[in-house]
Order: sequence, then structure tokens, then C-alpha cells
Amino acid sequence: MSEEKQYRDFIREIIDADMESGKFGGKVMTRFPPEPNGYLHIGHAKSICLNFGVAEEYGGLCNLRFDDSNPEKEDANYVEGIKRDIKWLGFDWEDRLYFASDYYDQLYGYALQLIDQGDAYVDSLTWDEMRDYRGTPTEPGRDSPYRDRPGDENRELFQRMQAGEFPDGTHVLRARIDMGHPNLTMRDPVLYRIRHAHHYRTGDKWCVYPMYDFTHCLSDSIEGITHSLCTLEFENNRPLYDWILDRLDVYHPQQIEFAPLVLAHTVLSKRFYRPLIEEGVLSGWDDPRMPTLSGLRRRGYTPDSIRTLCDRVGVAKNHNLIDMALSDFIIREDLNKRAPRVMGVLDPLKVVITNYPADQTEHMEAVNNPEDEGMGTREVPFSREIYIERNDFMEDPPRKFFRLGPGREVRLRYGYYITCTDVIKDDQGNIVELHCTYDPESRGGSTPDGRRVRGTIHWVSAAHALNATVRLYDRLFSDPDPRPGEVDDERSLLNPDSLKTVTDCKVEPGLAEAVPGVNYQFERLGYFCIDADETQSDGPAIDRAAPEYGQTGQTGPVFNRTIALRDTWAKIQKK
Ligand code: ATP
Ligand code: MG
Repeated sequence: MSEEKQYRDFIREIIDADMESGKFGGKVMTRFPPEPNGYLHIGHAKSICLNFGVAEEYGGLCNLRFDDSNPEKEDANYVEGIKRDIKWLGFDWEDRLYFASDYYDQLYGYALQLIDQGDAYVDSLTWDEMRDYRGTPTEPGRDSPYRDRPGDENRELFQRMQAGEFPDGTHVLRARIDMGHPNLTMRDPVLYRIRHAHHYRTGDKWCVYPMYDFTHCLSDSIEGITHSLCTLEFENNRPLYDWILDRLDVYHPQQIEFAPLVLAHTVLSKRFYRPLIEEGVLSGWDDPRMPTLSGLRRRGYTPDSIRTLCDRVGVAKNHNLIDMALSDFIIREDLNKRAPRVMGVLDPLKVVITNYPADQTEHMEAVNNPEDEGMGTREVPFSREIYIERNDFMEDPPRKFFRLGPGREVRLRYGYYITCTDVIKDDQGNIVELHCTYDPESRGGSTPDGRRVRGTIHWVSAAHALNATVRLYDRLFSDPDPRPGEVDDERSLLNPDSLKTVTDCKVEPGLAEAVPGVNYQFERLGYFCIDADETQSDGPAIDRAAPEYGQTGQTGPVFNRTIALRDTWAKIQKK
């Protein structure tokens, strides 16, 4: 068991007590049970970290089980996507990959057992009638006229339902519990419904499909799960979970509910996103603004940062909204350690260094990561013409502006001191170029006379620069607690500036080798990664080996900004 975890959440406290009392023979067995009807999101990551994490801490095991009992919505592609995302997060189910659909025969047998025991009956009310008979939280329900069908008739009807003799919606199998139960879930819940649908794994074998409540507890039981961890919305279903397992007198896991992960400025509902994707407002389930694991991966989030977030959020019974500041902090902290530094200019302004030889190129040694000496250094080409960030120059700078202005001197990161001598403008008065002189004695960031230069700016050699496109992402929702169901116009919740695409950026030539999955810090600007899906989002496939790759006028590499930097300016000035 991990020693460093001083705070024990309530789930680990329950397990501690079970280990001590020997409730499950000192065993811990958990499962992550996604339904293959969509892609995993950051909320699922919390459940994955908890289930796999708890199993590991107690020397137990965690299964991956696809909870597939909705033939219309499920798909093998989702199965593969979910497996890929869990592996990416760093968890391994080894040979324990299960499907609820593999248990259909067993579940069917259990349903017959309940019928034979008088614990289930076939109801022939319509869905509307059933809703009507169900009552409300304040009024008890009424018994269906079919509730007291003789046992044999129930068995025969259920078998004929499976044999395909009845159309969808004509009959259901219900548990016989109590139509007056204060918990509506316990008012004779439906266990099976008829669906003449093709299932992605069982094909056309079944005409009846078990409901979630029936499938889930029995799948847990079949797999010998000890602690069945799920989100709070299943609290009302727990009495049913227990009822089914008790009636069948089978091995009985314990269901424990915890609060779902809820992130500020985020919506996790698939229903909300589907139309946005279909209309092209978002590029897909892996759009880097999506809270899906595939979106976060494409955005540049590392598995470590997501696991750290889940860990810091912790496990509790009470709902709480996690501030974005926490996830921002965690991803920055993680990338700060691992991301090599590079220079890139997003809004280039050309600078000609008039006293620098036109035919000369020098190679400046640059530190790859000041946080990690082991990451070494690289050489960055320097020449007479360079690009700097347009906003690092002001024609009429205020006193506190320490960057470039007419007659002012600034330090080029890993380069020389330059002083602005001329501002070149076009006919409309736009600044198109700066002329500067450099001090040949200032290479390496200081001069023999020790004169003070307050500002340091980044740059890229014009002759060597690679053209690049950069996508700047901001949060998708302006509202910290967006609730799509509660507003008239759901689109009004969206932040109109969630994506800005900047073309013709200039980056260090070394970035021609950048590949997806590696994060870079563009000095002073933020963390960036190569977009893993350039082909779909920006036209034709990009051949990184082609000679024109990244040349002026070409798209070149496409970078996604994972997150902006904070306080960088202050930091660079100290150095
Ligand atoms: P659906 O609405 O389609 O059921 P879902 O998000 O509940 O979507 P599931 O595939 O049923 O998707 O979820 C798999 C597991 O992940 C469940 O055990 C569920 O409790 C858990 N889970 C889902 N959302 C969250 C969340 N926000 N925080 C923590 N766990 C979650
Ligand atoms: Mg669910």
C-alpha cells in the first residue's frame, strides 16, 4: 500500500476496514465499466484512476468490462478508442478484458430463475401506461394488471419474447418488488426489453436485452468484484443492485458511490457535443477543446498530468466544481519539467542588423531546459536578418516597457545586444521592418563594460526559419458553470474566442523534426505540440520530408498551444 498517501479517502477507509474484517477474504477486485457508446472524457479518467489505483494499492486487480446492453448505440470502434485511451493513461487490464454481452446467456438464466421464484413477471402495458402506473415521488404507484400473471405463463412469454415472436415495446420483464416503494427505482423496475436490433458483438442472437441495473450487478458478481465503485447518480440504484443479488443468492459485491469529477468551464455530456461536431463547430471528438481524453491528448496534455489532476481532486461523497486553475497549474508544472525550450515568433516583425556581415551565420548555444540539465543544449542559427515578436517593439514606449524602441537596447535570448536605429514604414504608416545594430562584444548575454539591459526577447533567424501555423486555444465555455439544459440558447454558453489560428509564424529550424506526442515550450509564449491530425483539419496530408516543408508560403508544421505561460516575462528578466 502506498505510504505517501497520508489522507485516506472514504473509499480507502471502507476498504481498509474490509481488509481488517476479512469481508472479502482480504481481496480487492475492481472494474472500470464503460459503455462503448462514445469516447472517454476527463470524468472517466477519475474513475479509471480510482479503480485501477485502488486495486494496485491493495495488491488486487482491476478488470476492464464493456457494459454493453444497448445494441443501437454501441460500436466496436468505441471499444478500440476506449482501450487506447486507458492504455495511454498508463493502466493495464492485462488479460482481464470482459464484455457484459458475454454474460447474456447467464443473465437470461438468472431472469428465468427470478420468474420461477415469483420475483419477476412479464408486463404488457405500454411505456406510457407504465409511466402512468409508476406514480411520483410523493404518490405511490399502482400495480399493473399483469403483475399477477401465473408463473408458467411468465416463463413462456419471456421465452417467446426472446424467440422473436413479439415486436419491440409489446412486453417487458419486470422485477416484482413494490409499487409503493418510496424509492422509484424499486417500483417494479424493468429488467429486460424487446429489441429487434443487431448487436455489434452478439449479432442477431438476442431479441431481448437486459437493462443496465440487471446487467451491472450480475456482471460484477460473475467477475468476483469486491468493491463496485460508481458515481453518485447510482445511489438510488443501490437497493436494486442489492435486491437482485440477494434474490438470486449469488456472490454479492459492495457498491460504493463517489462524487463525479466536475470541471469548471466544462460540459461532459455527449448529447451537447454531438450537434457541434456534426455542424463543424468542433472538428471531432478529438478537437483539442474537447474534454475527451483524445481531445486532451491532441491538445498536448500528458497522461501524467491527468493522473495528477485526478489524484489532487481526490475522492469524496460531495459534489464540487474543480477550478480550471488547478488543471492549468498541474499541466504547466508537468510540462515545465519535460518540455524542451525552443524559440518561435507568432507575429513576426523583421529586424535587419545593419552592421552584421550579410554572408555570415553563427550558431548560438541554447539551453534545452533550464529545469533539467540532462536535456542538454542545441545550436540555433543567427544571421543578419531575424524575426522578433511585433509586440516586443513600441515606437513610443512608456517608461516601464523594457523591450525594443527607437534608440533602445535589448538582449536577444542566447544572442547579442541590439539597438534600434531605424523604423521602416510602408505608405500607410505600418511598421514593416526595423534596422538595428548589434554589439559584437555582447555574445552570450553580457558585455565587458557590464552595462545593464533590462529586456530579453526571443527571435528566429529569417534565413533559417521554418514557417508554421499555430492554433491558440482558450476555454470552450465562457461561463464557469455551463448548464446547457438550463438556457434557451445553448450556443450562447460558448466562448467565441476559443480558437485562434495564426498562420505564417516563424519557428526554429530544428522544429522540422517535431513529431506528435512531444511538447515544446516556445519561450515566453507557452507550451505547444504538433497537431496529431493535420491531415483532417488543414487540407492535404503533410509530407514532413518534402523540401518545401515549412518554407515561406507553405503551411509547415501545425502546432496546438496546450496552454499559455504565466509569469514568464518576470522570470526571463531575472536571468
Ligand atoms: P452515459 O451517459 O452514456 O452513461 P457515462 O459518462 O456515464 O455516460 P459510462 O461509460 O457509463 O459513461 O461510464 C463508465 C464509468 O465512468 C462509470 O462507472 C461512471 O460512473 C464513470 N464516470 C462517468 N462520468 C464520470 C465523472 N464525471 N467522474 C467520475 N466518474 C465518472
Ligand atoms: Mg453511464
